[in-house]
Amino acid sequence: MKIINVDAYQIFDSRGLPTVEAVVELDSGICGVGLVPSGASTGQFEALELRDGDAARFQGKSVYQAIANIKTELAPALAGKEVSQQAMLDQIMCEVDGTANKSRLGANAILAVSLAIADANAKAQGLPLFKTLAPTCSANLLPLPEIQLVGGGAHAQWRTDIQDFLIIVNGAKSYNDTLEVTSNIYRTAEGMLKQRGLLAGAADEGGFWPTFDSHEAIFEFVVEAIQRAGYQPGRDVSISLDIAASDLYSDGQYHLPLDGKSYTSEEFLALMLDWCERYPVLSIEDPFADTDFAAWKAFTREVGDRIQIIGDDLFTTNISRIEQGITEKLANSVLIKLNQIGTVSETLKAIEVTQNAGWLPVVSARSGETEDAFISHLAVATNAGQLKVGSFTRSERMVKWNEVIRIERALSGYSEFVGGSIFQQLKQLEPA
Ligand code: PEP
Ligand code: MG
Repeated sequence: MKIINVDAYQIFDSRGLPTVEAVVELDSGICGVGLVPSGASTGQFEALELRDGDAARFQGKSVYQAIANIKTELAPALAGKEVSQQAMLDQIMCEVDGTANKSRLGANAILAVSLAIADANAKAQGLPLFKTLAPTCSANLLPLPEIQLVGGGAHAQWRTDIQDFLIIVNGAKSYNDTLEVTSNIYRTAEGMLKQRGLLAGAADEGGFWPTFDSHEAIFEFVVEAIQRAGYQPGRDVSISLDIAASDLYSDGQYHLPLDGKSYTSEEFLALMLDWCERYPVLSIEDPFADTDFAAWKAFTREVGDRIQIIGDDLFTTNISRIEQGITEKLANSVLIKLNQIGTVSETLKAIEVTQNAGWLPVVSARSGETEDAFISHLAVATNAGQLKVGSFTRSERMVKWNEVIRIERALSGYSEFVGGSIFQQLKQLEPA
């Protein structure tokens, strides 16, 4: 089926900020849509999100230029093309843009159309997205969720310096178990915070925004919430952290104002190792700045066989950065965010490169999300094994968790769930 029209307009994300929605129309009358998410703690190596910067309109955040670029440049370039050729269509859009980081047309413009092409193609084939997105015949692995309990950093006005304290239900036997355990812990944590008068609100991704005096107090709180809900920390449920350390790094030092401390790279490495030693940490994202390769390397050498070390700002879903990371053994896992790179096919390639190295991809939402559940399909389509969507509240988050339930039903008995045993794979990696 052929593309006859591409249209776009401005919609709003979960923070009420403007974003792009595109519609790809086929000659059969079928339409696909693409909705673009947006980050707050963005990495410096991400593809460019084009915003108008006109202070008079949405305080500079409107995306009318990106929309105009879709209508005037991408639509004519795609008209008449076969919708099933995702890689070729993405390539055409990259060529029309002509820059390395999609800065002329905007990665938000290109991604909106790329997502809409994928959606239109699935609809044209009469199949769910997870079956048409990637060419694997066994797309059936339900992801292990990473779910945020406490949100901080850029998502909660720096009430805490560490951006996310999340949980991974590594002892769960099914996807549904992970949600039940998470729900129990989330409610328990909420009750504890309310009772202690520590609850200040909800952060951008729905996690609690508490008033703690130190990061250690948050660790103690998370461990207690797991226990009070009736689970054993480490065995049933573990901690996952997103340090988002590039945001903490300036003048060659890591700053944690909540603890009243600053650290050299070596000292921060020691702190990360200490936290991993003292608390049941199973996964840690961006423990160091995206330029501090020496610390990444040393940390991976120390704990890379037992702790998932995820590069988010470090890799920005960029294939050449991931390849460099694999060669230099900087981590053992890659956070996958579609809008960091800006097309569906480059995202699929990033996942493939990650998996071919024996590393673990974690498909992720952004802090600014929409009602779209594309990433749930992406996680299953690629057998990625893990999904990170923020917390266990708010529809822009729940729509992704719920979509996996629907996918499980659509697979009617053929789905797989390996849960926490996915981390066994880390032991197979060559020592750094
Ligand atoms: C993250 O850092 O992993 C994240 C989801 O936040 P943002 O979307 O703000 O980059
Ligand atoms: Mg991150």
